[in-house]
Amino acid sequence: MLVRHVILIAGPPCSGKTTLAHELATDHEIVDYDDITGQHGIFDPDACDELDRRIDRIANDPHARAIVIRTVPRGEDRQALTEKLDAECILLMPDKAECVRRAAQRPSGTRKAIGMWFWKYTPAECDVAKDKYGSEHQRERKRWVSVVARGDQLCAEMVCLMDTRTIDPREPWHLAHDPTGTVIIGVSHERCNTSEGASRGNRMRGQGPRVTRWNYGG
Ligand SMILES: [Zn+2]
Repeated sequence: MLVRHVILIAGPPCSGKTTLAHELATDHEIVDYDDITGQHGIFDPDACDELDRRIDRIANDPHARAIVIRTVPRGEDRQALTEKLDAECILLMPDKAECVRRAAQRPSGTRKAIGMWFWKYTPAECDVAKDKYGSEHQRERKRWVSVVARGDQLCAEMVCLMDTRTIDPREPWHLAHDPTGTVIIGVSHERCNTSEGASRGNRMRGQGPRVTRWNYGG
């Protein structure tokens, strides 16, 4: 049985929560309000109930492997949810201007929701350590950008779903980690890294406690 691993990803609309969730997920269930409603940021009481049910289930599951995506701007709410889920909390907080820029593709209420998030935001203890991982990851990723740019890197996932293993620097790519999630073994196609095949490959390569892969997108 794999170890319990629950992550809470918090942050304003358009901060990259969903992208990060898919990068971090191996065999994790992803719980995302927007997935439940099928739309961005639409209030739906049934979806809220469904979300609460799923969060309760994860909170009470000693073997849960899940990534929960919530905006939770207020530090006390974020802290409470982190503790309830017994999760690691990753707070994504890009510049407000950057979120607003990304909101151009979203429904008209999104900019207002971003403004509201920053207005409500307060820090929490659960956030503190996580900024460090983010910047470490970003440094690591920067190191790989020039390597990938050579165009000769091969997909490091055990199961490659693409026509060629070669990574095209113009296509989305991720850092590939060993099954412990702590050692970077190379780069992989985004599709291969986030696929069920990748998690199956990881399971075949070895089990054992897995640590979050700090795979911030870019
Ligand atoms: Zn691949």
